[in-house]
Amino acid sequence: MIARGNRRRVLALSDQTVPYVYSPAVKERFGDVDFIAGCGDLPRDYLEYVVSLLDRPLFYVPGNHDPDDYHVPGGQSVDGAFARHESLLIAGAGGSIRYKPPGLHQYTQRQMYQRVLMMLPRMLIRRLTRGRGVDLFIAHASPFGVQDARDPAHIGFKAFHGVIRLARPRYFIHGHTHIHRNLERSETQVGDTCVVNVYPERLVEW
Ligand SMILES: [Zn+2]
Repeated sequence: MIARGNRRRVLALSDQTVPYVYSPAVKERFGDVDFIAGCGDLPRDYLEYVVSLLDRPLFYVPGNHDPDDYHVPGGQSVDGAFARHESLLIAGAGGSIRYKPPGLHQYTQRQMYQRVLMMLPRMLIRRLTRGRGVDLFIAHASPFGVQDARDPAHIGFKAFHGVIRLARPRYFIHGHTHIHRNLERSETQVGDTCVVNVYPERLVEW
């Protein structure tokens, strides 16, 4: 048993399967992570494979391309919900902005405000006692204006700025915005929160 102290390592995955993750090599590369975070738009089999090889918990949200009954065996959905891992509190909100009907896992700005509002009381109470309302927030889409895009499907959520301001997560991780060039940002500090675009794989450490 390695004494890891307060050091945390999280393998975050999103949007696209990565060959070196979807192989037995994942055990050597990421065998010591605390848990796995799924930011959506990923095949169930892929996440299930990583969970079984690493034998670590998975917390995930659905993306806009995931089916209605998106349950990953061995994982725990944090879509509009909370989860605990040791002393850490994790929360999440999946889906993207509504851009076409019928729009499974798609929300208007107003609907996302309503979803986030339901989660705020618990986060505010914890912030008073622990300094952070939540340690990690897992989303599929990004906050509005931060690592999002201007086309109708990739605009970020304004409500997520409320999460960052009021709950002060250490990390806000998301996918959905595909990075095509090295010039595009994948990490932005917003207040006390580091916003990270996971696409397609990131090791988040603190
Ligand atoms: Zn997406």
